[in-house]
Amino acid sequence: MEKVKMLYEGKAKKVYSTEDENLYIVSYKDDATAFNGKKKGTIEGKGAINNRVSNYLMSLLEKEGVPTHLVKELNDRETVVKKVEIVPLEVIVRNVAAGSLSKRLGIPEGTKLPFPVIEYCYKSDPLDDPMVNEYHIRAMEIATDEEMKTIAKYALKVNEFLIGFMKGVGIDLIDFKIEFGRTSDGTIILADEISPDTCRFWDAKTHDHLDKDRFRRDLGDVEGAYHEVMKRLLGE
Ligand code: ADP
Ligand code: UDP
Repeated sequence: MEKVKMLYEGKAKKVYSTEDENLYIVSYKDDATAFNGKKKGTIEGKGAINNRVSNYLMSLLEKEGVPTHLVKELNDRETVVKKVEIVPLEVIVRNVAAGSLSKRLGIPEGTKLPFPVIEYCYKSDPLDDPMVNEYHIRAMEIATDEEMKTIAKYALKVNEFLIGFMKGVGIDLIDFKIEFGRTSDGTIILADEISPDTCRFWDAKTHDHLDKDRFRRDLGDVEGAYHEVMKRLLGE
């Protein structure tokens, strides 16, 4: 499978068309951004790590009954995925208070939530990804009620699976962001990525941050943290 034309260059990935109209190739970059692009940098090796970690987790989620866009890993940085029309929502699931939730609601970072909390943000760079609820989503026709039921069901399933799986490698899953899309026949599947860029992973013993917060908050050894996650998951 070959890349034909670059369709989109985002902050973390490039998306290419292929000879197959139902397939794209995504190419993961080492570029890192935070605060909606206001902070920029490079994390050496990040593209390859996120590609491999995301593909590994998605392949396991498929077996758990969550359909994903994963088709085939081509090489370190590139993967063939099913083309979808992205539902323009960041679907966030939280198990422990952190980041924007702690700021907004005054719940100290690290406070365990009694049950998972789902949040939706409308994907829009000019608007800074504002939080929306099901009523906004319905009124703006971002997704149908039926699609939202499927999305929430899959989001909680991803959460349940990832909590247990990460626990097994000594990592607490604090929160994460996922995206869904519609295939050409309208089926909702998990798309985009699941990686240290899009999850908060804390070492279960030391509570060290093994994720993009090291970059956002200038905690140092960002590369080391990404490598540590890959090593625990893939053994290298
Ligand atoms: P951003 O757009 O936020 O800068 P990326 O750099 O990760 O993010 O760009 C990847 C883009 O590709 C995102 O807009 C994402 O929604 C989109 N995308 C992810 N998976 C698919 C897919 N299977 N089909 C179509 N678009 C996808
Ligand atoms: N997240 C993400 N992309 C975004 C915003 C958030 O992947 O554009 C992830 C982030 O890594 C964290 C979770 O979603 O795992 C919740 O992030 P939060 O709302 O606390 O935002 P932040 O503190 O990153 O501003």
